[in-house]
Amino acid sequence: MPRIKIDHTKCTGCRHCETACSLNHVANTVNPRRARIRVMRDGNRYYPVIAGPFVDAACTSKHYIVIGEQTYDMCAFCRASCPEKPYFVEAETGIPLKCDFCGIPPSPSCVRWCNTGALELVED
Ligand code: SF4
Ligand code: SF4
Repeated sequence: MPRIKIDHTKCTGCRHCETACSLNHVANTVNPRRARIRVMRDGNRYYPVIAGPFVDAACTSKHYIVIGEQTYDMCAFCRASCPEKPYFVEAETGIPLKCDFCGIPPSPSCVRWCNTGALELVED
């Protein structure tokens, strides 16, 4: 099964993936707010997150994620579009955004435009 492997250590924060995804879904329009991938920044580190399922209720329990010296709220890396997260929801319409893997067979625009190898299409 093909998957997108994310290696955040290779991500430079260029946001080409957001641009590519946006263009792929809305012709002739560059609007990263309509992208199904978002690049989160923490200092000089970048974490690409790809939109997952829509859920209409926020989580009722919370946890934290520790990476190295940093502690992150669980929402930082969660892929869901949910009422607590303003991104992964199309601003103009309120429609939840979800990665559609750019068709079948997958040819993910975000992977093709990522020239550092931070995003890679892999097979299980
Ligand atoms: S295109 Fe690649 S390097 Fe650039 S922000 Fe996206 S994942 Fe990171
Ligand atoms: S696979 Fe396609 S839809 Fe999914 S984040 Fe990448 S460009 Fe967007």
